[in-house]
Amino acid sequence: MSPTHYASITTADTRIRVGARSHVGRVRQLNEDSFVAEGYVYAVADGMGGHAAGEVASQIAVLTLRDLGGNHPLRPDDIVDNIRESNRRILKSAGSRPETEGMGTTMAGVTVVRTGGADHWCVFNVGDSRVYRLLGNRMSQVTHDHSEVRELIDAGLITVDEAKKHPLRNVITRSLGTDPGPTPDVWVFPPCPGERFLICSDGLSNEVTDRDIMVTLREHDDPQAAADELVELALKAGGRDNVTVVVVAVDTDQDDDDDGDTAPRAHLS
Ligand code: MN
Repeated sequence: MSPTHYASITTADTRIRVGARSHVGRVRQLNEDSFVAEGYVYAVADGMGGHAAGEVASQIAVLTLRDLGGNHPLRPDDIVDNIRESNRRILKSAGSRPETEGMGTTMAGVTVVRTGGADHWCVFNVGDSRVYRLLGNRMSQVTHDHSEVRELIDAGLITVDEAKKHPLRNVITRSLGTDPGPTPDVWVFPPCPGERFLICSDGLSNEVTDRDIMVTLREHDDPQAAADELVELALKAGGRDNVTVVVVAVDTDQDDDDDGDTAPRAHLS
């Protein structure tokens, strides 16, 4: 592929197909996850706090983000500013309703920004909701979990397998609804024809292995079918948490000769 093979995400020769599904799971009474998937804004938020407060926080986060959808072209700073605004709104809402005090939420997502005169993906996260990127037969987690177990793994103190059963596995180290507000992590990279993104709450990633996630994404060309199947897998594995997935597929006119053998040019960390 030549460098001119760039996908221009916001032009007519690129088609974005999206599938999304959110499920309360098999154990919990309330679904405190929220998602948005419209206008080049795709995100999942996993709320926490008793008495449905988590749902309030996750809704505020995705609705604030949705406001960005109509404002193309965006800059990466717009995403950061928007997440700060979410944090302010969550704190304000919690302050005015005592029963929601202490509510918070994660958020992870993908949107389109313009840098250097060209469209780029902008992936962001706060907390342990995740964005994965699939291209050909390679899948990688773009986001870095803000969680106690991730820090312990990074420090070399526990293994990935040990993290799954660790007592601190549910403790996140950054969330929206805190004062001072969290700094989101942001990744900006150029688009690649044929790539797919999966955005999910930990109700998927705690129940289904990365390998099974990748196989499922590859099996289903239709993003909605992929989203439905991923939720089914999480439910079959126990469904101990709310589970939410958004699948974004990017198709271009040049997809015919994309057999996945081209190394991604994205700068993933
Ligand atoms: Mn969760």
